Amino acid sequence: MMQIFRPEPLTDFSRPENAEAFRAALAKVESELGLKTPLVIGGKEIYTDDEIVSTNPANHRQVIGRSSKATREHAEMALEAAWKAFETWSRIPGVERARTLYKAAAILRRRKHEISAWIVKEAGKSWVEADADTAEAIDFLEYYGREMERYSRPQPLYPLPGEDSVLEYIPLGVGIIIPPWNFPVAILTGMTSGAFVAGNAVILKPASNTPIVAYKLFEILREAGVPDGVVNFLPGSGSEIGDFLVDHPKTRFVSFTGSLEVGVRIYERAAKVQPGQKWLKRVVTEMGGKDAIIVDETADLEAAAQGIVTSAFGFQGQKCSACSRAIVVDAVYDKVLELVIEKTKALKQGDPVDPTNVIGPLIDQGAYEKVLSYIEIGKREGRLVLGGEGDPTTGWYVKPTIFADVDPKGRIAQEEIFGPVLAFIRARDFDHALEIANDTIYGLTGSVYSKDRARIEKARKEFHVGNLYFNRKCTGAIVGVHPFGGFNMSGTNAKTGGPDYLGLFMQLKSSSEVL
Ligand code: NDP
Repeated sequence: MMQIFRPEPLTDFSRPENAEAFRAALAKVESELGLKTPLVIGGKEIYTDDEIVSTNPANHRQVIGRSSKATREHAEMALEAAWKAFETWSRIPGVERARTLYKAAAILRRRKHEISAWIVKEAGKSWVEADADTAEAIDFLEYYGREMERYSRPQPLYPLPGEDSVLEYIPLGVGIIIPPWNFPVAILTGMTSGAFVAGNAVILKPASNTPIVAYKLFEILREAGVPDGVVNFLPGSGSEIGDFLVDHPKTRFVSFTGSLEVGVRIYERAAKVQPGQKWLKRVVTEMGGKDAIIVDETADLEAAAQGIVTSAFGFQGQKCSACSRAIVVDAVYDKVLELVIEKTKALKQGDPVDPTNVIGPLIDQGAYEKVLSYIEIGKREGRLVLGGEGDPTTGWYVKPTIFADVDPKGRIAQEEIFGPVLAFIRARDFDHALEIANDTIYGLTGSVYSKDRARIEKARKEFHVGNLYFNRKCTGAIVGVHPFGGFNMSGTNAKTGGPDYLGLFMQLKSSSEVL
């Protein structure tokens, strides 16, 4: 019997031995930069001439590694290999499949700093953010292993005299796993392991910005004993092999996390039944957010300002849960704005290999240009009170940027920017703040700072987001504690790290025998 699930503790870098160990991990990673990684299909490693060259967002001249890049022929081969592996893997008892997750968690725990160091270099996360990313991956493995054990037990039924009835979860088949780059280890690990521990075989198409750390994670799964073909590693362009795999009649399900545009495209394409297709594809699609923190006049304003700053600018605002709207009631608006500006000014920005740099670069040139274009829009829609500039000389740096007095209907208050841009919006009172918060197509995370019990209970009922917090930041959901996933155009409400998640990758079979 496994022990109770407990979230992986985060590393305390103020302890010299931990900081030293992380520096050693960074040095190891530095010595390996430039490595070439293969596709892996049915256990066979394939190196291609065409490559995805992954670069360091903090120093774009530095190559992190060269990933092989799949064609449609490789995608076809991967589907075949996965269906073959499914025949045996799907018949292995769930409790045994769960064991590979516990083993992978143990390996990842041993190599924690090394994997986090790859995240620092390839995704531009600070030490603390990278450490949390790896810890969350360990949590997904430990949690989904235990969940598989739970799903494997006989499901409760009402007995009918004279019949022996059984209700059991069985896997779906072969699925395509398409994660984003912003939690290049945690989300990739959760999406992949949740699908395969349920008895499916998968094709993992990592994001093109972070294929090297994705390969490092894939190696850990192999070392943990995941059989050949159960997870096929297939980096490649979203538009080329992504569309092909989503459309393919042999694809049984697609699990996607990423932008609204791509998520909707996948949802629509997967709905079309192709010639020869024998099922309706199941699609799990988790998308963006326009997350808000509400502050009223009863709140602890220091704590609220700190919560806003951490949620808005952690990992440069590149989190689906990031606070991009601070909605503050008129009575304390100026004070909260002043505190947020002051705390944001204190954040040091630079290459995240230096742990004093809490703010790093944006992921790539596309993100840099997109964020700067939103800053131009913001200058027309609000009052620029901090930041507003970028410097692409060595890395994709954009300063933490705050706009005050933003129109709640303005584009920077409605569209996901996915960068360090925060819109301050003035509300007449608490009810008005709640109305503004809900006036979005998204519904992912939200937070309320208030000491008023009646208002807290009102927000609990009416603030329409999948993950709502009171008197704390709106980022940093913990597996098993805050099951994660949004409403409306934030996605299909998969609730990763929650008790319904594995069920999304299974179907229920009922059988009855007359005694
Ligand atoms: P994208 O939508 O750009 O990409 C996500 C993945 O989809 C990548 O692997 C990408 O591959 C792939 N892809 C792109 N086009 C296609 C296609 N036509 N068919 C199949 N796959 C395709 O998102 P980002 O990676 O930029 O991630 C950021 C977004 O993710 C933000 O909107 C954020 O809010 C959201 N997100 C949501 C979360 C949630 O739980 N709701 C959690 C984390 C992020 P390639 O890289 O090769 O283009």
